[in-house]
Amino acid sequence: MSVESVFPRLEPLLPKVSKPVQYVGGELNATVKDWDAVEVRWALMYPDAYEVGVANQGIMILYEVLNERSDALAERTYSVWPDLEALMREHAVPQFTVDSHRPVGAFDVFGVSFATELGYTNLLTALDLAGIPLRARDRTGEHPVVLGGGHAAFNPEPIADFLDAVVLGDGEQAVGEITDIVRAWKADGRPGGRDELLTRLAETGNVYVPTFYDVSYLPGGGIDAVLPNRERIPERVSKRTTMDLDDWSYPKKPLVPLAESVHERMSVEIFRGCTRGCRFCQAGMITRPVRERSIEGIGNMVHNGLEATGFEEVGLLSLSSADHSEIGGITKELADRYEGTNTSLSLPSTRVDAFNVDLANELSRNGRRSGLTFAPEGGSERIRRVINKMASEEDLIRTVSTAYASGWLQVKLYFMCGLPTETDEDVLQIAHMAHEVIKAGREASGRKDIHCTISIGGFVPKPHTPFQWAAQTDPDTVDSRLRKLRAEINSDRRLGRNIGMRYHDGKPSFIEGLLSRGDRRIGRVIERVWLDGGRFDGWQERFSYQRWVDACAAELEPFGVSLDWYTTREREETEVLPWDHLDSGLDKEWLWADWQDSLEGNEQDDCRWTPCFDCGVCPSMDTDIQIGPSQSGPSGRTLLPISP
Ligand code: SF4
Repeated sequence: MSVESVFPRLEPLLPKVSKPVQYVGGELNATVKDWDAVEVRWALMYPDAYEVGVANQGIMILYEVLNERSDALAERTYSVWPDLEALMREHAVPQFTVDSHRPVGAFDVFGVSFATELGYTNLLTALDLAGIPLRARDRTGEHPVVLGGGHAAFNPEPIADFLDAVVLGDGEQAVGEITDIVRAWKADGRPGGRDELLTRLAETGNVYVPTFYDVSYLPGGGIDAVLPNRERIPERVSKRTTMDLDDWSYPKKPLVPLAESVHERMSVEIFRGCTRGCRFCQAGMITRPVRERSIEGIGNMVHNGLEATGFEEVGLLSLSSADHSEIGGITKELADRYEGTNTSLSLPSTRVDAFNVDLANELSRNGRRSGLTFAPEGGSERIRRVINKMASEEDLIRTVSTAYASGWLQVKLYFMCGLPTETDEDVLQIAHMAHEVIKAGREASGRKDIHCTISIGGFVPKPHTPFQWAAQTDPDTVDSRLRKLRAEINSDRRLGRNIGMRYHDGKPSFIEGLLSRGDRRIGRVIERVWLDGGRFDGWQERFSYQRWVDACAAELEPFGVSLDWYTTREREETEVLPWDHLDSGLDKEWLWADWQDSLEGNEQDDCRWTPCFDCGVCPSMDTDIQIGPSQSGPSGRTLLPISP
């Protein structure tokens, strides 16, 4: 049955709201398929504003993969700003997709990708506007399957009550298999209703259906066990891993936003996963092993993507792009190919110890020298050993000097505050490092006007990392350390005036910590915050710490737990963690041993270049490290014969 577009009802509201262009769709490379010509329809959501969500690679990939199928379609939806939300409620306009403005409630699957836990309240707004009951148990066969994914869904327990199902890990193949299951169930006449569909998904072992698991608690507030409550349901759910990225060269036709967005460039993911072993980094841990895209594959994607979009900047994406085993060849050959054009290259994420002068020169050859960002993460060598990010201060100074000498005037250094075992002294070392950077940069460049920005985030212990047992530092301590750091930076005015410092207060990170390591009891807190007006909690101007504190007090006290219990409390080895039944491949004993190594300041090597140290991922997920030919000698392969 055809589903009407809500655009005729939406259009009169748009002149009354901010940035109406974000709701109209019609971007270059957007796809609208015939509703009646397919059997399975997906609404894909990034639960943030359009300007953030439209550039999301994960959604873009799934959108294309699904729309390439003849039996499926996918459309996109984003969080609407509170001004439009109010008008939609007043005029009974439901949550809609931007592609054809169909109501989200009419789709078969409503897939939501969570990059950050602070997007959880936006999920509730979208469900409510869509007319989908907030709680999974209240939904019927009339409602879409609400499916969560993305990095923040590796512990979906805080939003377990609101989700029907969750996929851990890579989505490219998972969405195809889910589509097959939904299509077969519909073709069979929907036997057993929604329950049977969810059971068919769950019994694959790769889709987590929270209602099929019961959580029991101990008198002290901890978890006793999380167990399946029916037959056909596996005890543990495994993450998905897409191997051979060259077989999945998506997005082939990236979307070109109509409205302003956070990234005005085309991105190519040059590898996935990271085995550097930074202990704070959930993304690195949960995306193991490393899988590189080949130099030819990258060349093709850059060429095709630029043709399809007209962008003038190419971002070579990954968790640590300079670590690609052929990064030298990739950047040189791309710079050669686009010599004389306006096409510039950027490595949005660069390790200090993997950057060198050749790379700097190739990156700056054809385009602007936009700012460079490095992430030493910790100010002192001691704390960098704790977090296993062993770049020395000399490495950093040498690298940054290279950048300044190559013509960059702006360098950004990213650090975290509140790391396990951290003291004031560790943080004050950041000031020393920044002073040295300016001194060395002036000398290398011969200029006085170079600039360095110190950007600092509050550390949040994350599930599936060695720091999942760590106590989170309270926001007052983080704020006080950062005030001292600012004073220390400014203690030398001649250097301090060339150093900017950016940090937000520690409170949003503290709430992110609550949500990251929370269990199902946190769902009530999220709902109360949302009912109290919580929207866009990832946006500083919309975040209210007090709202979260009040909701925690009201909802958690009856269970004998609290905001502090979830955040500043160090966990014991034997504690059942809320995500223990969700298998990221990492062996819990290995993670614990790495946590103990961290406390003793012991480093862990990268298994790309040393023997496997048995973190558990490859054998349990039946995967392997996939890196390029430089490991086994040059392949003689080059980027591509194409010229622009
Ligand atoms: S199992 Fe071994 S090779 Fe695979 S990611 Fe872990 S340490 Fe590396």
